[in-house]
Amino acid sequence: MDTQGSDPTSLFSAQPGKPCRACTDFRSWMKQQGSLQGASKSGKEGEEKNSSSQNNQKDNTNASSSASGSTLNGNVKSATVDPDDTDVPLTGNAAKYGCPADSLSLGRGSWRLLHSMAAYYPEKPSADQQKDMSTFITIFSKFYPCQPCAEDFRDWMKKNTPDVSSQKGLSRWFCEAHNEVNRKLEKPLFDCSLVNERWRDGWKDGSCD
Ligand code: FAD
Repeated sequence: MDTQGSDPTSLFSAQPGKPCRACTDFRSWMKQQGSLQGASKSGKEGEEKNSSSQNNQKDNTNASSSASGSTLNGNVKSATVDPDDTDVPLTGNAAKYGCPADSLSLGRGSWRLLHSMAAYYPEKPSADQQKDMSTFITIFSKFYPCQPCAEDFRDWMKKNTPDVSSQKGLSRWFCEAHNEVNRKLEKPLFDCSLVNERWRDGWKDGSCD
């Protein structure tokens, strides 16, 4: 399921009656919140947000400009900055601790973990290690917090059994799983022959050293 920019229902939400943040990218989330809250917010609050927007804007030029088009009570700027995307502090506790994951930061962080686990998986795993990895992947596919994503992942797994036989096999399998999502989201496909350079060894040109 393409969750980018979609309008996930409360069916997948952690909180009854609220949209699923982990199924929604940050900009769409802010748009949704704007349309849900816009009617009830006072003009004063809008002004406060605008003024914090201007404060943030000094440091957030890139993020803010890339966020044009998203609105929160008519504020088109810093309310749309995702600290997980930019590492740019917002204000208050968000600046200190960040905010809950959206579909993009959750996806990025998850792939980082999955590809890295595959990178460090043994070349010749024991029977127990193979069983544990299979179990991990099955459980991951049940609890991945974006439920529509998890459902598609489980469907794909029905025809593509995890290859837990070796480091190379597992890395390729995760690469193909990731490419399946890339395909769905119409993103470029990754060349899976490069997966160990990307996630284990660093690029041969030395740019990660
Ligand atoms: P990401 O796709 O997160 O990639 C991060 C980095 O991984 C890239 O910069 C690149 O260097 C590397 N990379 C890219 N492709 C590969 C590959 N094939 N193999 C190895 N490395 C690669 N989002 C949705 O909107 N809908 C979904 O249905 C959905 N399903 C998901 C299912 C799972 C199991 C997971 C973990 C995530 C899913 N996501 C889904 C999130 C989505 O895949 C992206 O993580 C998110 O859109 C952010 O994308 P990104 O462009 O920042 O880079």
